[in-house]
Amino acid sequence: MTRIEELRDNLGVVRRRIEESCRTVGRSDEVQLIVVTKFFPASDVRLLAKLGVTDVGENRHQEAVAKSAECEELGLRWHFIGAMQSNKAGAIAGWADVVETIDRPKLVSALDRGAQSRSHEVDVLLQVSLDPPSAAHRAGADAGELSALADRVVASESLRLRGLMAVAPLGEDPAAAFTRLADVREQFLQEHPSATVLSAGMSADLEQAIALGATHVRVGSAVLGPRPAVK
Ligand SMILES: *Cc1c(COP(=O)(O)O)cnc(C)c1O
Repeated sequence: MTRIEELRDNLGVVRRRIEESCRTVGRSDEVQLIVVTKFFPASDVRLLAKLGVTDVGENRHQEAVAKSAECEELGLRWHFIGAMQSNKAGAIAGWADVVETIDRPKLVSALDRGAQSRSHEVDVLLQVSLDPPSAAHRAGADAGELSALADRVVASESLRLRGLMAVAPLGEDPAAAFTRLADVREQFLQEHPSATVLSAGMSADLEQAIALGATHVRVGSAVLGPRPAVK
């Protein structure tokens, strides 16, 4: 099988899983697929674009800056979904159309400066932590921090607040984690009714995420195959 055939088959399976999940819970709105292309070459991104993929996700600035430049003419929407360092935030605004992992105030100002200097607006999701407070590598803001963080994004010059993002913790039933997320989101939407994006669900748990309201799923290995361990 050629690579494009493999990707076409895998995409078909993932798209059917998304449709089936929507049908099961009676959702008629569209769930947006973001294909996570981290660790995979620009040649795969090109094939995905040919197969109708519009949104791709990357988690490392160095890798993404090169890949997005190589794929510039494809007109894809690039999502940054990785851990963010404030010294890279400005540069990330150079290629990312959507930054999904804003979890502290410092990132907002740095990203906004980057977006301004490149004179293009960047869509922002706030990352919500679903980890227990004792977890070693927590990513994301606590529910109680979202309000202040959202206000900063709204007050920024070149960022648009679009919604929330989360990753289900390893070792917990994803449905339980996404149920907490749905509660957080309900509160959040009362203050920011137009920030309706909910990015949740990956290869292993997209069904549970869609059942609990995800509008965007981020799927890597189910489309591209297993990722190379390290690069
Ligand atoms: C890698 C990654 C994904 C995709 O994970 P798969 O299990 O390969 O689908 C989704 N979201 C984030 C934040 C990631 O880092």
